[in-house]
Amino acid sequence: MKKREAAKNPSESGLMEKIVSLAKRRGFVFPGSEIYGGLANSYEYGPAGVELKKNIQDEWWRVFVRERADMVGLDSSIILHPKTWEASGHVAGLVDAMVECKACHTRTRADHLIENHFEAKGEKISVEGKSEKELDEVIQQEKIKCPTCGKFDWTPVRKFNLLFETHVGIVPEAQSKVYLRGETAQGIFISFKNILDSTRVRLPFGVGQLGKSFRNEITKGNFIFRTLEFEQAEIEYFFDPEATDWKKLYEQWKGDMWTFVTGNLGVRADMLRWREHGDEERSFYSKRTEDLEYNFPFGFKELWGLAYRTDYDLNQHMKYSGTDLSYTDPASGRKFVPHVIEPAVGVNRLMAMVMLDAYTEDGERIFLKLPPRLAPYKAAVFPLLANKPALVEKAREIYADLQKRFPVAWDDRGNIGKRYYAQDEIGTPFCVTVDFDTLGEGEAANKNTVTVRDRDTGKQERVTMDKLTEFLHGKIYR
Ligand code: ATP
Repeated sequence: MKKREAAKNPSESGLMEKIVSLAKRRGFVFPGSEIYGGLANSYEYGPAGVELKKNIQDEWWRVFVRERADMVGLDSSIILHPKTWEASGHVAGLVDAMVECKACHTRTRADHLIENHFEAKGEKISVEGKSEKELDEVIQQEKIKCPTCGKFDWTPVRKFNLLFETHVGIVPEAQSKVYLRGETAQGIFISFKNILDSTRVRLPFGVGQLGKSFRNEITKGNFIFRTLEFEQAEIEYFFDPEATDWKKLYEQWKGDMWTFVTGNLGVRADMLRWREHGDEERSFYSKRTEDLEYNFPFGFKELWGLAYRTDYDLNQHMKYSGTDLSYTDPASGRKFVPHVIEPAVGVNRLMAMVMLDAYTEDGERIFLKLPPRLAPYKAAVFPLLANKPALVEKAREIYADLQKRFPVAWDDRGNIGKRYYAQDEIGTPFCVTVDFDTLGEGEAANKNTVTVRDRDTGKQERVTMDKLTEFLHGKIYR
């Protein structure tokens, strides 16, 4: 069985192309607005994809919010007061440097253009923190050509803001300008006081939030890795820097993130690594920032960021709003502004990783080795033959029964082999077949039993119908 290896250059295996094709073929992810010719960097999540994404979200929420005594949840607005983004620094700072090819009008991020150029020469450089002028100099010195048309005729590098602007009300006046949120985290800071006042939380505690964020990204088209809109799962973990050792807390969060990815999402540890931000890359207010990176087919890239942001954000919102966001220690009466550690991840990026990591080839057979909890359907039910009413009726009964407990697929098209093939590609861990033995028309000892076929081993076993739900439930939610 060929499980993908941590290849030096994973793109060589064509894995990304295989995943993009499987995603479309099997209803995980479709190109955005396809019937209108497409909309760059946007995607639709199909019937299998929406289930997988939701299962990842549910797992995150269960592990980090529901099952922790020190966490609460929040669902803040996508459109916040515009001052939020001035205070957070996004209006001035959420910017990328861009160049445009004067010949073919391809727009590209200057940092990506330069980094790719050096990568092709076998050199690795980072241009993080460089000014427009410095980026221009590198492009000119290296005479970097347009990746689309091959010409060397660039506009000067210019910065552009990634926040999407829109207007509240029907008249687009300057006062009505608002932004679609560029991250979910700021909603947590601006609700901090209300959370303190309305709950019994005591430091240290965290607030978790799941929801859409929007960034006007120019990307290299790496599937759902970077898109215009995406689902974020962010936590602000508040603590008293005098009572809690931030370094210890930081390490705990690193451990929790690692366990989630390798345990709950079932991703291989040798495909992951931590990378610490250097002084140029790290925000000035952060004392430490590290990215958990996954070995995507286009190289190790950020999956999940972890930053110790000190008391910067709460202080900024205090300054811009004039509202006191400090915390009073109930025991000592000491008043102070809490510090935060922020683990921030994109669910779509987690999903891309999960699909890539689960992709398995076993000879002709292709299957997604998803942890059963994440699989879009936990089981599929088939009547052996679609034209035998007694088989169909019995299979329908079983299907309806299982559906009360978990999502189940139904298939009666084609032969059993084709049905297995389709379920393998969407990662269904178990296929249940009703045959003549089930009806008592074959092997007498097998009456009222069905075959259950395991996705990973391909092995089949007979299970009695009245034990089937418990049998599957035990294997799926173990
Ligand atoms: P990158 O360097 O990849 O642009 P970032 O450092 O700007 O990411 P953060 O602002 O730290 O990202 O956002 C937290 C997380 O949100 C990222 O680790 C990533 O998983 C996810 N994310 C950010 N931008 C996007 C996007 N455009 N599409 C999908 N996921 C995203």
